[in-house]
Amino acid sequence: MKTLLSALKKAENAVILPHKSADGDAIASCIALGKLLLRWGIPYTICLEEPVRSDLAFLGGDFAVLEDRVPVPHTAIAVDCGDAARLGERLPLFEGAKVKLVIDHHVTNEGFGDVCVVDPSAAATAEIIAGLFDLAGEPFEDAASPLYTGLVTDTGGFRFSNTTPKTLRVAAQLMEAGAESGKICLAVFEENPLEKIRLEAAVMHEMTICHNGKTAVATVTEALLSETGASDEDTSHLSGLLRGIRGVETGVLLREKDGQIKISMRTSQVLDAAAFCKTFGGGGHARAAGATVEGDISVWKEEIIKRIGEAYGRHC
Ligand code: 5GP
Ligand code: MN
Repeated sequence: MKTLLSALKKAENAVILPHKSADGDAIASCIALGKLLLRWGIPYTICLEEPVRSDLAFLGGDFAVLEDRVPVPHTAIAVDCGDAARLGERLPLFEGAKVKLVIDHHVTNEGFGDVCVVDPSAAATAEIIAGLFDLAGEPFEDAASPLYTGLVTDTGGFRFSNTTPKTLRVAAQLMEAGAESGKICLAVFEENPLEKIRLEAAVMHEMTICHNGKTAVATVTEALLSETGASDEDTSHLSGLLRGIRGVETGVLLREKDGQIKISMRTSQVLDAAAFCKTFGGGGHARAAGATVEGDISVWKEEIIKRIGEAYGRHC
């Protein structure tokens, strides 16, 4: 952490890069880190692969996207990004930088920068960044709400098993520093667009239950998205919903995206989702992981079901 802190302070200018399809933790961590750099007078840009998700717009923040042709910085910081491939088209911005830093909490992160702080015991990357504020002796102030948002989104409102006593202590400090918990939770959990709920209904209606009720798998095709009017960001909670059916150990959502298939997996107790997804090029956490593959969605659905069955065989 100390090496990271001094590397950050030495940055002449910085580009902050969250993983593609940036979620609450990724966006919020970038915003908070930017506020820290600003206090030290370091100019920075947060560069995203695609425009920010609408449910995170309440956080504010200025973002550049790919089209903005951000110049290669002195220091590039990959945030909440499990591997270099998850930087997508922005990889040259990272690779070209003089100093490459990695701040992350994914267990599958092998470290792909000059200085890497990867702490899989942290519930969210925001928890690590909160530690950075502490170490730097900087008050949270305007970073309190974004950091709290990172914690709350990656822990599903402090319900997931990644939530630790430390997470709750950090959350308490952030609330004391002004993070408005009720308002943040309302924005990220309780204000769902109608299209998202319509999509949810269709997916739950069509899902497949197998392995004696232990596995729930569903697909979202481009056609289903246009039928329901939902967008890609409306799919991010569906694997958790599948996992949340009583008796289900593993929930998997497969969705078509940009000609590829995005796999999203949630597990309860038996399967290591990160290890499972790593076998086809993905990664993540023990209970929540994902991967991106090429091919036909229904073929992959059968393949995933088969592989989960085999994995149960090894574990049960
Ligand atoms: P989600 O299912 O919400 O897309 O992702 C669950 C977790 O797995 C997140 O922490 C995410 O960063 C990680 N993850 C999702 N897709 C991939 C992937 O293609 N590669 C890697 N390394 N991690 C992924
Ligand atoms: Mn995260």
